[in-house]
Amino acid sequence: MERLSGQSATDLDRAAELLRKGRLVAVPTETVYGLAADARQDAAVRHVFTVKGRPLLDPLIVHLPSSPLPAKEVEWPEAARLLADTLWPGPLTLVLRRGDSCSWSPLVSAGLPTVAIRVPEHPVLQELLHRGPLPLAAPSANPFGYLSPTTAEHVEEQLGEQIDAILDGGPCAHGVESTILSLVHPERPTVLRPGPVSRETLAHVLGLEVEQVTRGPGRGAADPQLAPGQLPSHYSPHTPLRLFPEGAGASLDPEPDTARVFLQRPSGGSPGDLDFWWSEDGDPVTVARSLFALLRRLDRDPRVSLILAEQPASLEGLEGALRDRLSRAAHARHS
Ligand code: AMP
Ligand code: MG
Repeated sequence: MERLSGQSATDLDRAAELLRKGRLVAVPTETVYGLAADARQDAAVRHVFTVKGRPLLDPLIVHLPSSPLPAKEVEWPEAARLLADTLWPGPLTLVLRRGDSCSWSPLVSAGLPTVAIRVPEHPVLQELLHRGPLPLAAPSANPFGYLSPTTAEHVEEQLGEQIDAILDGGPCAHGVESTILSLVHPERPTVLRPGPVSRETLAHVLGLEVEQVTRGPGRGAADPQLAPGQLPSHYSPHTPLRLFPEGAGASLDPEPDTARVFLQRPSGGSPGDLDFWWSEDGDPVTVARSLFALLRRLDRDPRVSLILAEQPASLEGLEGALRDRLSRAAHARHS
């Protein structure tokens, strides 16, 4: 595995060369690190699924240097143009209908007549995408179901042996995955995954109501045709994780092998050895940035056999995205 620097033009050239040859390179994005392959090469895309242990029914996001795209690749409704003009580059993924002669591997769509695309903002990834120009299929660079990686070290720990290179672009600015918006029915835009771009922002740009797919009680995943890959259990540490409601931390009486994670530094009294917090003041941007990294650290801590984590109360905006990730992280696998 080659360790490449996002600051070096030679290393960026090398990453582009590997990708053109059908090899896999982990890349920084402003959300989380991605495991990238040239979206046009079937074998390379298939290899991404294999390395992650990801089911072929879970489609991938294609990352592009810029928009709009030729109609042969995707259908491009007016709503997509509006959002692209206003919010790209940025942490927003759009699900659109595939064009009639789309040049990307059918595997990125997992058999659906649609494709998810995004123009990312991270300067290192922008440099790389423009070098091709390459459309890059890139899911998060972690084993399927585990916490997402937000540094190059996280990727190396878990996938270092199985991939060709890691392009280091520093820690990710957002720390949670992109907002996914389906425009398959442009008059009924629907958020499939909450993220850094809020529903309110989307509604404001579009001048339309924006719906949100929710998991009904006992229904498990949302409609797999509409929102494939949105499993109730995802982003999980191996150590059991349970949630407590925002503000209820003081009433917990944890066992000695239990870590408590708060949204902000607990006030009053001195914190215990196994008390942790994602931010000093509860700012959701800071919480998101350290969300996965702290859970990862606790997952490796031999003192910890249970993690109790504080879940934000709000369903909206970035806090809604944090709530979503924590619910999935705490949802026992195979249940
Ligand atoms: P990630 O695993 O973070 O790369 O995100 C990929 C997720 O995007 C998948 O698990 C799906 O939930 C969603 N996605 C990708 N392509 C599509 C599509 N064509 N239709 C609906 N959702 C999609
Ligand atoms: Mg993922």
